[in-house]
Amino acid sequence: MSELNLILLGPPGAGKGTQAEKLKDDFGLPYIGTGELLRKHKDEGTELGREAARYMDNGDLVPDELVIRMILDEIEEKGADGFLLDGYPRSVEQADALTAALEENGRSLTAALLIDVDDETVIQRLSGRRQCRNGHLYHVIFDPPKNDGFCDQDGTRLVQREDDKPATVKRRLATYHSKTAPLIDYYEERGLLRRFDGTRDAKEVHNRIRATLAMLRMEERL
Ligand SMILES: [Zn+2]
Repeated sequence: MSELNLILLGPPGAGKGTQAEKLKDDFGLPYIGTGELLRKHKDEGTELGREAARYMDNGDLVPDELVIRMILDEIEEKGADGFLLDGYPRSVEQADALTAALEENGRSLTAALLIDVDDETVIQRLSGRRQCRNGHLYHVIFDPPKNDGFCDQDGTRLVQREDDKPATVKRRLATYHSKTAPLIDYYEERGLLRRFDGTRDAKEVHNRIRATLAMLRMEERL
């Protein structure tokens, strides 16, 4: 079986998490989210985790080299048939480092899946989100609670997370456009970019991604 070595790209609020979840079920690909990966290493107190913790505790960014070692370990352990990488790379420099590290291991990316969503939609999606203290999620327009401002399941008050406030969303989008968006050109130039319209509903986006991946697999076998 040919490998599916994939990375997910897209702005915050594009629904990458939802798509990753579905792809994991479809293709049995391990999902490698760098945030989760860092937490896992830290919690388990691995050597890499302790090293990363020293940076995180000082409020510094964990160096690329360390993150890449964690990703490669994870790929080696679980990703024989492929993987789905989310949250990395976030810059062209990181993309170069990942390309080189994969090559050293005799592997290469199959595709970069971009879930494309315009800024206005991102702001509307994220700034409408509300959450209770038990983590139940709502959206004031798309999925409102029965009683305005209170959770249907436990009756506790709904709040807007700091990350979802319009000013924060705009800042996150600005970071995305300056750092991550150049990756779109990077992967396009290498013929690896596959673009999906993330303003469509999640099921349709999923079906399109699945069809694309099925096609990529066939091409590789020919
Ligand atoms: Zn709740």
